[in-house]
Amino acid sequence: MASPPQSHILSFEDARGLVEEHASRLKPRGRELLSLLDAAGRVLAESIHADRDYPPFHRATRDGYAVRFVDLEKTPATLEVVGEVKAGDATAKIPPLQPGQAIAIMTGAAVPEGADAVVMLEHTSRSEDRVEVQRSVSGDENVVLAGAEARKGQEMLSPGTRVDYAAIAVAASVGRSRLLAYARPRVAVLSTGDEVVDVDVPPGPNQIRNSNTYSLAAQIHASGGEPVPLPIAPDEPTRLRELLKEGLEADLLLIAGGVSMGKYDLVEQVLTGLKAEFFFTGAKIQPGRPVVFGRAACGADAPTREDEQGGDRSKFFFGLPGNPISTMVTFELFAKPVIEALAGMTPRPLRFMHARLRTALQTKTGLKRFLPALLSGEFEQSQVELVRWQGSGDIVSVARSNCYLVVPPDRERIEAGEWVPVMLR
Ligand code: AMP
Ligand code: MG
Repeated sequence: MASPPQSHILSFEDARGLVEEHASRLKPRGRELLSLLDAAGRVLAESIHADRDYPPFHRATRDGYAVRFVDLEKTPATLEVVGEVKAGDATAKIPPLQPGQAIAIMTGAAVPEGADAVVMLEHTSRSEDRVEVQRSVSGDENVVLAGAEARKGQEMLSPGTRVDYAAIAVAASVGRSRLLAYARPRVAVLSTGDEVVDVDVPPGPNQIRNSNTYSLAAQIHASGGEPVPLPIAPDEPTRLRELLKEGLEADLLLIAGGVSMGKYDLVEQVLTGLKAEFFFTGAKIQPGRPVVFGRAACGADAPTREDEQGGDRSKFFFGLPGNPISTMVTFELFAKPVIEALAGMTPRPLRFMHARLRTALQTKTGLKRFLPALLSGEFEQSQVELVRWQGSGDIVSVARSNCYLVVPPDRERIEAGEWVPVMLR
């Protein structure tokens, strides 16, 4: 059997940088037409253009009176009220506003010709057909001019945009009930280990149930991929090799377990036998240090997609350490950007927020840590606290946490009250 690859351990930043670099060259798979509701959470595969000016008319943004602002240079001023226009009303038949006149107007209505500002109702008092205005306004105050948001034909959303609720609003407003989205990439999940049995199989006294395949499937789906679970691979090279080859037929392969230093951690060796190329075999992080990233050719009978993955037929794979928290964290840090790229999404950086540390913490230097923690409070009162955990196998503590507290590799001690970076879950 082939020997394992040479150890190549990178800092978190270098490892992440390498992943991003490879991800940036990936192309999405096909496209599909989806209804607006089904498109939520997917990635847009087309440009959305303005079908007319936005707003299509000069739009009042307040309830009040449409006025000529020059009439209000000196206030208080009294104007003659010559009509009313509410949202949806046509303004074509309203005669242009003359000096000294005002028209009652509602939010969302078209500002009639001759008027160039809206004075808020709060700054007026009305008696019959007269209105007294207490405050002056500047030109176009409380008015959005036609075309100010987008000109007819202008691109409003570009391909690669994640279709979130704001994007859905744009699509609906331009009359698109269907959207072209990129197909979800197929991501194979291979859990390994002789001790692992599937969820509905009664475990022996020293066996554990497979949770990684399921947590990964959920993470894959949330990242825009379609999970393809494979049967559990034993710690035995022949069957492992078969299943790895099967996994390489998908767009991306995630392997959980079997990448540490133990005698029965065979994944890297078997991948070497499949002529895999390894970009790194570890990252200076905790949990998740033995994480592996590489590329291997898929089977000869696999369909060729010339433009993908550097023009060859090889597929990327990640070997994620099998301890469940390590599996989860390394997915978020490394596998997710590759799935997002295969799903056609414009790359985005990892997103952090900051919170005050509740209780001082002490760690060893050398590794960047992503520790399960509980975030509470809001805005400047945000506080974060580590949850007590029994190491990277402790799914119970992660299920009780809602974020990961990030400890830089050079910090031995962080005091209570310090602002610390937090990665949300
Ligand atoms: P490994 O990375 O293969 O050394 O696995 C480390 C530990 O993670 C194992 O001893 C198991 O306790 C646990 N583990 C491995 N695979 C799974 C899995 N699919 N589901 C839950 N726990 C797992
Ligand atoms: Mg194992």
